[in-house]
Amino acid sequence: MYPIHIPHLLRQPQATQIIHLDGAVPDLDALTPVKGQMKIRHGGTFLEVGVSAETIVNLTCDRCIQSYNYRLTLETSELIWLEAPTAETLPPERELAWEDLSEQLPPDGDFDADAWLYEQFTLALPLQRLCGKDCQPPAVSQQEIDPTDRRWSALEILKQQLTTLPPA
Ligand SMILES: [Zn+2]
Repeated sequence: MYPIHIPHLLRQPQATQIIHLDGAVPDLDALTPVKGQMKIRHGGTFLEVGVSAETIVNLTCDRCIQSYNYRLTLETSELIWLEAPTAETLPPERELAWEDLSEQLPPDGDFDADAWLYEQFTLALPLQRLCGKDCQPPAVSQQEIDPTDRRWSALEILKQQLTTLPPA
């Protein structure tokens, strides 16, 4: 996706651009194309960006360390300010939240939809990654802690060889 030149949005019907998503999001390690819809509305002093999309990613379970596929769905919207918001410029249907103040772009700049999508998907990843209710932590096999492990016996043989070598 090309970056969207913010002033161009004002020429769209209702100053809104709809983007149909069906493809890769750069840097997002997804197994399937990202499918869904993104909506970017120019609100004069802000952009209202909303997305409804999903894809499948491969995660590693925190408990059994097996990899598993996870359906990552995104249903979110965000205001991106084109100038510092005030009580007058705030859309009436929204209360001012801290996260609303975090993003600001120059009014004549570009909106990078790919970077925004990547960030939203990354934020939507589960904090605790579990493949299922019943998985078990991997058992520590006896083989790995057995002192008679073949790797150790090889070392033992080498040690014996060294001690039986005639002194130089
Ligand atoms: Zn698991």
